[in-house]
Amino acid sequence: MKILFYDTKSYDKNSFEKELQNFTGIEIDYLKTDLVPRTASLAEGFDAVCAFVSSDVNAEALRILHEKGVKLVLMRCAGFNNVDLEAARQLGIRIMRVPGYSPEAVAEHAMALALACNRRLYKAYNKVRENDFSLSGLMGFNFYQKTAGIIGTGKIGAAMCRICRGFGMIVIAYDVYENESLKDFVTYVSLEELLAQSDLISLHCPLMDNTYHMVNIETIRKMKDGVILVNTSRGALVKTADLIEGIRMHKFAGVGLDVYEEETNNVFEDRSDEILEHSTTARLLSFPNVMITSHQGFFTEEALGAIAQTTLQNAMDYLDGKASNNDV
Ligand code: NAD
Repeated sequence: MKILFYDTKSYDKNSFEKELQNFTGIEIDYLKTDLVPRTASLAEGFDAVCAFVSSDVNAEALRILHEKGVKLVLMRCAGFNNVDLEAARQLGIRIMRVPGYSPEAVAEHAMALALACNRRLYKAYNKVRENDFSLSGLMGFNFYQKTAGIIGTGKIGAAMCRICRGFGMIVIAYDVYENESLKDFVTYVSLEELLAQSDLISLHCPLMDNTYHMVNIETIRKMKDGVILVNTSRGALVKTADLIEGIRMHKFAGVGLDVYEEETNNVFEDRSDEILEHSTTARLLSFPNVMITSHQGFFTEEALGAIAQTTLQNAMDYLDGKASNNDV
């Protein structure tokens, strides 16, 4: 099987080449460019493509892939909101993903963002580097005995619940399905109650029609003043313009984002003044209590190894004609 690997970074190649030694019958060709409709035709002669969260696997891209003979799209990530599933189904292209590679990697990053915002670590770091050892502007609050509200308690949300419990927090959660394994220490509440009670809110649900912009001015108004909001899930769970309004209302002690709405627009790769002027992400960065990281939650050694292993296993299952839980 020949796989065309889009949007290759050196760390992707390293982890896949290492894992590939355990799989026979698979060849990978690595491309730097990402999968979008314009680059889909490069897959001519390949059986499968490997894509990522940043890829644009829309109906047009899928149509071209189909025309070029591609029968399988291997998403090397958990989310698949960037794939037109209906178009894939109609074209008979199988979509497979890596549902849980290292939930702790993302959950630990969510807590890192929460702590960095709370204790103003980015500000402290810069101050000390400038020889300013004063504590002004650095006061935070204890997480101990405060309430953590976790929205979405699947694999990553559950790991975040366990981390918050470790901090001695009261853990409440909202999910459309309750996770039985958390029942000993997590209390499920309505979304309204979670918004009203939480000192830390962390988003861990997928981006779908009913979660799109779930953090908006109405839900922000229902949050406690001084709350910390963390989003390591998908940018469009938060309506950025409303978040900016909320920050202006002094609603938040801190906002930590690993994902943001403009992620796929290459706002910061194309640093033109015009783009930056209209960029909501750039506006967010101008607030002193906002910390943004560049979708690095998954980025640990363990997670990359697990992503490569599962993606290649998905390819093998496809070759062997096996059904898989990783089918989307
Ligand atoms: P998961 O499928 O295990 O869990 C998602 C949970 O969300 C499920 O329990 C589901 O019932 C719940 N949910 C669905 N709709 C909901 C709604 N309307 N309200 C509340 N809860 C709802 O997924 P996961 O592996 O825990 O991943 C969660 C998300 O994290 C992914 O969808 C992805 O967007 C994101 N993610 C981010 C990174 C990163 O690097 N920052 C890496 C991997 C995944």
